[in-house]
Amino acid sequence: MGSEESNEHNQLHFLVVPIGSPGHYIPIIDIAKLLAQHGVRVTIISTPVNTRRYGSVLDLAIQSGLPIRFIEFPFPYAEFGLPGGCESVDDLPSYALIPALTNAYNSLQQEVEHYIEKLDRRPDCIVADSFILWPGDTAKKFQVPRVIFDGMSCFTQMCNHVLYQSKVYENVGEDSFVVPGLPDRFELKRSQLPSALNPNLKYTNDYYEKLRVSESEAYGVVVNSFEELEQAYVDEFKKLRGGKVWCIGPLSLCHNDESEKVQRGNKSSISKHECLEWLDSQESGSVIYVCLGSVSRVEPEQLIELALGLESSNKPFIWVIRAGPHTKKVEQWIDEQGYAERTKDRALLIHGWAPQLLVLSHHAIGGFLTHCGWNSTFEGVALGVPLITLPLFQEQFYNEKQIVQVLRTGVSVRDQNKSGMAIKSDDVKKAIEMVIEGGEDIRKRAKELGKMARNAVEEGGSSYRNMTRLIEDIKKYART
Ligand code: UDP
Repeated sequence: MGSEESNEHNQLHFLVVPIGSPGHYIPIIDIAKLLAQHGVRVTIISTPVNTRRYGSVLDLAIQSGLPIRFIEFPFPYAEFGLPGGCESVDDLPSYALIPALTNAYNSLQQEVEHYIEKLDRRPDCIVADSFILWPGDTAKKFQVPRVIFDGMSCFTQMCNHVLYQSKVYENVGEDSFVVPGLPDRFELKRSQLPSALNPNLKYTNDYYEKLRVSESEAYGVVVNSFEELEQAYVDEFKKLRGGKVWCIGPLSLCHNDESEKVQRGNKSSISKHECLEWLDSQESGSVIYVCLGSVSRVEPEQLIELALGLESSNKPFIWVIRAGPHTKKVEQWIDEQGYAERTKDRALLIHGWAPQLLVLSHHAIGGFLTHCGWNSTFEGVALGVPLITLPLFQEQFYNEKQIVQVLRTGVSVRDQNKSGMAIKSDDVKKAIEMVIEGGEDIRKRAKELGKMARNAVEEGGSSYRNMTRLIEDIKKYART
């Protein structure tokens, strides 16, 4: 055996199993890169469109010799009634197809197991998206530890846990209630809870119940967070999981190269050059970046309110308008009302996919109006950007609480004293002014958190050490 070959045999080998939604796929690809940087050989279980879409961000890393590869399996579109080429939630023509997409991912088990059987040596660990069920069975079958990733913070993990245990939300109607038993006091409403806590959704409920069992059987959890950000919640979550929790984020900071930042998640709808030229022409800390994530579908009337609020704020802004049939009306409104023309001196409208990391890394950005998906929220935190929060669904309301009330590094768009989810242009304007004109404390705090985030991922930082700890744990497991 040559020395390279023998090295490969001594090297730990992790299988990474993603699911097709940008908010899940993007960070798990970052985990693959980090593992490889720490000397682990990584194989990503992929499907044709996903490899092309999410893999390009790793091209440079792979060219530089990092041991990462994609193993592609055919995706069963027709079998599950999905349009050809549709492997990601944001490409679905209707969200009624989410169960079909999930089932399609769950059907890959047999082929992946055949692949594992043919390997000279079984993998040492499976790092799987927690939303897929089969890696639990596969890990048991091959007696390999399974580490799960669900893309949430420890704060969110603990909110979900105490709410599921206490069921405190069950008899409160639409009144606010205090989330019990957590290190900070804050209130939520039932309408702000994720679907896993909604007893009226039959399919989702059965599936979530299976996921709970599967999660409880996993060896441990990797989290896109860093300990100093939310130490009290990390400690609680560790207690819950017998210590096997590894905060290894911010994952987004694993990309320092501009072309990697542009390629992350999808083909950007604007060139790097055009984007940077526009940003370079703006004053430092003056621009509001507005993006509501990769899967949200906000009513056109609401998006128009958002647009009017941005306009009346009189600040420079970048507004990302997702492509697709649901934004047609808004695009039409923009044309008919001459909105682009009216705002052209201080606005950059991106129709489609924005190079979010590249934008947020630029010194011109003074605030990020976000729907509070954890990736976006944490990307803003990691880069020291104050947030303007506009949660829409799922855990996004928890994330808003963590940002506005616990970390105090953002303001909410919605007036907390008024009920309802409606977006009002006046509220948008007010929130922007609070962050850009007032908000010195918020800006200072955001900068401090950004610095802490960078320290966490540097050699010797808490996230760096946690990655080492995870790998050491798996080594020990492999020896037993
Ligand atoms: N994203 C991006 N460009 C876009 C929209 C989204 O790069 O135009 C990325 C964003 O940086 C983040 C992910 O897509 O990494 C979205 O994940 P998040 O958890 O914020 O929200 P979701 O889309 O899952 O609701």
